Amino acid sequence: MAITRRQFLRRSALAVAAASLNQGAVRAIVLSGPAKKVLVLGAGMAGLVAAYELTKLGHDVTVLEARTRPGGRVHTLHEPFSDGLYAEAGAARIPDDHDLTHKYVKEFALPLEPFYPSRLNALRFDRGSREEVPIEGFTDAMEGHFGYDLGGNPGRWQKIKGGTDLLPKVFAERLGNKIHYGSPVVKVEQDEKQAHVVFLKAGRKETMTADSVLCTIPFSLLRDVELPGLSSQKRDVIKKTRYDAVSRVYLQTRNRVWEDKGLNGFAFTSGAIEIWQPSWSQPGPRGILMTYARPGEAERITKLKENERVATTLKQLDDMFGGLRESFERGATKCWMEDEWSRGAWAFVGFDKLAMALAPEGRIHFAGEHLSQWPSWMQGALSTGLRAVKEIDEFVKV
Ligand SMILES: Cc1cc2nc3c(=O)[nH]c(=O)nc-3n(C[C@H](O)[C@H](O)[C@H](O)COP(=O)(O)OP(=O)(O)OC[C@H]3O[C@@H](n4cnc5c(N)ncnc54)[C@H](O)[C@@H]3O)c2cc1C
Repeated sequence: MAITRRQFLRRSALAVAAASLNQGAVRAIVLSGPAKKVLVLGAGMAGLVAAYELTKLGHDVTVLEARTRPGGRVHTLHEPFSDGLYAEAGAARIPDDHDLTHKYVKEFALPLEPFYPSRLNALRFDRGSREEVPIEGFTDAMEGHFGYDLGGNPGRWQKIKGGTDLLPKVFAERLGNKIHYGSPVVKVEQDEKQAHVVFLKAGRKETMTADSVLCTIPFSLLRDVELPGLSSQKRDVIKKTRYDAVSRVYLQTRNRVWEDKGLNGFAFTSGAIEIWQPSWSQPGPRGILMTYARPGEAERITKLKENERVATTLKQLDDMFGGLRESFERGATKCWMEDEWSRGAWAFVGFDKLAMALAPEGRIHFAGEHLSQWPSWMQGALSTGLRAVKEIDEFVKV
């Protein structure tokens, strides 16, 4: 397929963007190569952005995704909540300096709203003491514990109105039937002329071939995919990269009883557990309070049965806010270690291994948050997807 003038201009713009993102670490882009057949493995943010941009450049793209929805770790829970309420299982907050996330939110005209409420007080627990603080007290505690990356002025944090998964859903809508859902990849290999990907379709093995493959499958799952011919260093990093546990427990209540006490439903507890009220910007009277636990606490919660997770969280939050038990309607939970197609919340391969881990091997390219300078962020997934677009676009087998 010959490239059009529009595609040529887009390639030039993308080359500049990708080069600045990677601080000049990428080679010059080949601007006039023939269109390539590309297989993208995984329809999370990394795979979606790459498929979207490669398609715009004129390449022939197919996406293979194990789940039956796009977005991977971007997943908004509408069920089992009532009255159209929703809460995030994965990505929720967008900081003001994540330019790539903001770029696509803007490109798709998705509405943003503040992540934190400015009304009422948050709670802060420190060594047994309970304090009611303005929301700045919550983000200060976050900064004290995790650094500026998760702190700063509350006003620098936003969320997508309607749910974060509106972002992957627009990418998926643009890609249409280029995405094949329910297609878990089980083998990736290559020869002199092509790459071959074996995947399951209704339990039976099928094979697709392509000029290039972009693999965005998290390493927690890629270690179970057959990868003949891959270097021993790459295999080693895929095998050894450890993913963090995260758990979230959601409680739906008939009324926002905490508001009667001047509280907005946000709290930061010892053990660095965050408590959010995702429903504060959604119509009432019902509400959702949720806990967000990271490694240390998340593994303990993951080991519990679903009803125990809900029961212990109800007790914990009832002790904090009071009056919750009477208003409680139902609970839900999400533990990322047990997610079949993530097996963990996030990971980073490490600065010493980053260059090797993200380097392409022949026709096989790699992307995903675990290979970025922003691990555990959508920005990280997007940046690696765009880096791979440039690599694939300029790839010429000699
Ligand atoms: C609890 C949590 C909170 C977070 N909070 C935020 C936040 O507030 N703000 C923010 O910006 N980011 C946040 N993130 C991070 C963000 O969600 C991720 O960095 C990003 O979504 C990762 O995208 P990805 O494409 O790299 O991986 P994924 O989203 O995991 O995509 C990989 C895809 O590959 C698919 N797959 C797996 N195995 C196979 C296979 N064998 N064959 C085919 N497909 C396969 C998966 O189903 C998945 O769709 C959070 C993440 C979590 C888990």
